[in-house]
Order: sequence, then structure tokens, then C-alpha cells
Amino acid sequence: ISVSDLVEESYKRINEVDGEVQAFITLNEEAAKAKAKELDEQRGNDDAKLFGLPIGVKDNIVTKGLRTTAGSQFLRNFEDPLYDATVVQKLNEAKSVTIGKLNMDEFAMGSSNENSSYAAARNPWNTDYVPGGSSGGSAAAVAAGEVPYSLGSDTGGSIRQPAAYCGVVGLKPTYGRVSRFGLIAFASSLDQIGPITNTVEDNAFLLETIAGYDKMDSTSANVDVPSYTEALTNDVKGLKIGVPKEYLSEGVNPEVREAVQNALKKYEELGATWEEVSLPHSKYALSTYYLLSSSEASANLARFDGVRYGKRADDVESMLEMFMRSRAEGFGDEVKRRIMLGTFALSSGYYDAYYKKAQQVRTLIKNDFEKVFEDYDVIVGPTTPTPAFKVGDKVDDPMTMYANDILTIPVNLAGVPGISIPCGFSEDGLPIGLQIIGNHFDESTVYRAAHAYE
Ligand code: GLN
Repeated sequence: ISVSDLVEESYKRINEVDGEVQAFITLNEEAAKAKAKELDEQRGNDDAKLFGLPIGVKDNIVTKGLRTTAGSQFLRNFEDPLYDATVVQKLNEAKSVTIGKLNMDEFAMGSSNENSSYAAARNPWNTDYVPGGSSGGSAAAVAAGEVPYSLGSDTGGSIRQPAAYCGVVGLKPTYGRVSRFGLIAFASSLDQIGPITNTVEDNAFLLETIAGYDKMDSTSANVDVPSYTEALTNDVKGLKIGVPKEYLSEGVNPEVREAVQNALKKYEELGATWEEVSLPHSKYALSTYYLLSSSEASANLARFDGVRYGKRADDVESMLEMFMRSRAEGFGDEVKRRIMLGTFALSSGYYDAYYKKAQQVRTLIKNDFEKVFEDYDVIVGPTTPTPAFKVGDKVDDPMTMYANDILTIPVNLAGVPGISIPCGFSEDGLPIGLQIIGNHFDESTVYRAAHAYE
């Protein structure tokens, strides 16, 4: 099969299904086909790692010359970015082909894709249901067979939750493992880019390609990147699994709980052992996350002022009016809600009570994980409390929408890696995700455990 055939196949599938799935915001068809032709001419003397593989990229990752909107009307006309994000540069070096930019909740704020200002992507298993968010397009595109690989970003669950809802594999790496240079920032102390794929092996392969130190990202970690594919030994004999009791509480849907219990049985059969553990500060994770992520977002999004990027309001009479109207017209409701919350939490007189307190609780949450990892190799539980919900079900109720991320958010606050892999289906035929969490920079053990289960 030629690269041109592969790329052709990808666009054919997109033509067939994307009218309904709506996973893509922008396609890169002309450039991708030209690149495929070029790669076909080099065949035979090229062993680049991802040679000719079609990839979809979440639309908050900057791609040189290819429109990057972050799901926002603010960046609707950001047609011609001047540089590639480091991860995209690495994909290009590995000679993959970028098929297009994937749908997402605006500025990665959301859990259902309904906050995209373009279209709400749908769950390919049943298009009455959401694909999850914010990387809903990235998960849906892989699940629908439009691309074999994609990149997402995860601040509070945005890779793992949509991977769980769409029945694919999604990993959030350790904070600092993958460069954030060129990722449009939401909450810089939590954001990580990661791979979404059909199999654990593909996932490990893609992470190997994008991970590593980058001097362009001051929080990037100078830690060696091992071969993750070599970690896939299928051997989990003696692996010690901790199962947090908070992760199987009453709030978790019985079908999800049963699927996770079955997965634990399978691990026992494979020679691993598991015990109940506790992450006692998990109950504070949601409020901590929304305070910290919104505070960081309010600062990060200050750059969208109508002067430097994207939208500028017309017919304004003063500079102040230009700032205000550009922001009023360019941002959607959820983004405004977060900016207001964050600005409030950071304001003088409230800072100590909210932001500082949240930072302190964040440390307690991180300590909970460190304590468990003194005795256990991985932590296992569900990715989400329920399978995918229906489009429209939670859109008017931000608090229930937020509650959906209760099991993924602590992982971002602690900075540790976590993967979601499929572990069964609900009675309605919707996928259920198993979450496997590892210690800092120990993606290898996470992949080994995930691969043995798969
Ligand atoms: N759903 C969460 C939020 O809305 C997480 C988003 C993310 O990880 N980018 O903030």
C-alpha cells in the first residue's frame, strides 16, 4: 500500500462519516496529499518512525500554515500560524502526514464537545451521545476510523475521558514529559499533550515519538525517554495494584463498577495482586481544580485582546471598547465563566482564601498519590463515573458537567501519568474505560499493565 492510498483512504472515510461525527474543524487535504506523493517517491530508503502514517491533531496545537482555532470563534481567522508546536515538529520529523485539525471544546474547557464554537462532535458508537471532551474530536476520529492516530491534550481528563467514551486508548503523560511549546495554554501547570490510538502498542509508539526535553518549554523535564514499546512484555506477575476506595464509591454507576471489578479479576488471573487503598483528599479535587485551572486560564487568556491574535471587533471608538468587545464577541459562555471565576479567585483580598488554599490542597492530593506509590506499582479504577451521556443532557448544568471529571482530575493535580483503555460495554452498547495511573515518569509500567490487560 502506498502512502497516497493510506491518506486517500483517510479522506474517503472522513467524507463518509464526518458529516455526522463532526470530528474535524479544518482539513489539510491538499497539503497532505502532496506530502503523501513526496513520501511515496522516497520509499525504500526511509525508515522514519511514523513514515506515511495519517495523524489528526487537536486544534489547540499550533500547526504552521494550517488554521488553528482551539475551538474558538476568537481564532476563526488564525489561518496561517508561523510555527509548528514541538510535538508537530517531531511528527513531521517522523514523517507522518497531518490529515487535519480536530474538534474540541473551546480552549479545552468542557467534557462533551458541546462547548466547541464550530459544531458538537458526536460519539461514533451512537451519535445521540457525546464523544466526551475536551479532546472529543481526537477520540471520535480514531473510533470512527477516520485516522489511526491522533493527539489530544489533557488538563483535567480531556484525553482519558473522551478515550473512555469512544472506546479507544488515551494517555496523559507525566507533567513535563511532553513539550507544551505550541499548545494554546489553558492551565499551564496541568496541561499535557498525549496520544489517542486504537491499541496500547500504537499509543506507546506515538508517545516515544513526541516525548522528551524541549528547551522551548521551561517546564519540560530533562529526563530520559525509555522505549515504551519495549516495556510491553505482557508480564504482570507480581504487579501490585492499588484500588482507591474513593474510585468505586456510590457515585460510580454499577455497570462501570462491574466492568472494573472484572478487569481486576483478569489481573489476578495474570498473576498481579490488588488491594484497596485510599486517596483521602480526592473529595477536594474538583473544587481545587476549578479554582486553579480557572485562575491560570484567566491569566493565559488575557493575551486574546483583539490586538495580537485572531478576532478584533469592528466599529469601535476607543481602545478599551476594542478590548472589551473583541473579548465579548470572541469568547463563548463557558470560557467567560472560567475567566470570571479565575479573576475573582486571584483578586486581592480573596487570593489567600481561594487560590492559595487550593494550592495547599493540591499538595495534599499529590502526597496521597506518592504515599500509595510507596507500596504499589499502579493505581487502577474507572476513568469516568458513567459511560457517555446524551447530547444536550448536561449542557445547561455546568456543575454536573464538572462532576464528570472527578476521577481524572486528581491525576493532573498530582502530575502523574494515566491511561484509559476499553474494558467493556454498558447495556446500551457504550464503551467503558479502565484508568491505570502510574508514578511520575513511569509511563512504562502503565503501558505494561495496560497492554497485558488488552
Ligand atoms: N473537563 C475539564 C474542564 O472542563 C477538563 C478539560 C481538559 O482536560 N482540558 O476543565
